[in-house]
Amino acid sequence: GYRSRAAYKLKQLDDLENVIDGRDAVVDLGAAPGGWLQVAAEKVGPKGTVIGVDLQRIKDLEDPALTDQVETLRGDMTEDKTRERVVEAADGPVDVVISDMAPNMSGEYSLDQARSLYLARQAFETALEILDTGGNFVVKVFEGPDVDDFRADVEDEFQYVRATAPKASRKESSEIYFIAKGRLTAPVAPGD
Ligand code: SAM
Repeated sequence: GYRSRAAYKLKQLDDLENVIDGRDAVVDLGAAPGGWLQVAAEKVGPKGTVIGVDLQRIKDLEDPALTDQVETLRGDMTEDKTRERVVEAADGPVDVVISDMAPNMSGEYSLDQARSLYLARQAFETALEILDTGGNFVVKVFEGPDVDDFRADVEDEFQYVRATAPKASRKESSEIYFIAKGRLTAPVAPGD
């Protein structure tokens, strides 16, 4: 079984826009407990790789058919040193970057929304560092101020961007996912 209900959201996103199918190298940000990792590992298959990163430790996948292609890192994606570790682990451009990162909920929507947008921007910066030309990017963000600006920034870098609220996340109605397809340019590693 899947570790999280979130697994079904990634399936819906992939059904909608073919984000991962046929791709080999995926980076999964905010990956704990690992539902998206399971789905991504199934989709890339034995020749693919999936790197999962989270503040929390991610338990190894139980399914022996999926463990070989998965690597996990524990770290804070708002810190440069974690991004550097991801770049190192990826060892070259990747095909897909997915982020389901979400802040710890304070209960104050404006604060949670601002933090969510900050995490989404960190995911976008990471994608710009490691995503190959033609690669895809999926990112969760809570609806609110400045999300349109963020979308416009993502649109500048991809062939197109689609916004969707997967059925599996109906309960948390404020969250949307941007699916950005076809990166237009090549990654620029930090310091280059
Ligand atoms: N996609 C996951 C799955 O299918 O199991 C669920 C992800 S959960 C909704 C959001 C995750 O984002 C949490 O595990 C949280 O620890 C992580 N997160 C939040 N801030 C983060 C940060 N700064 N760096 C890395 N992970 C972060």
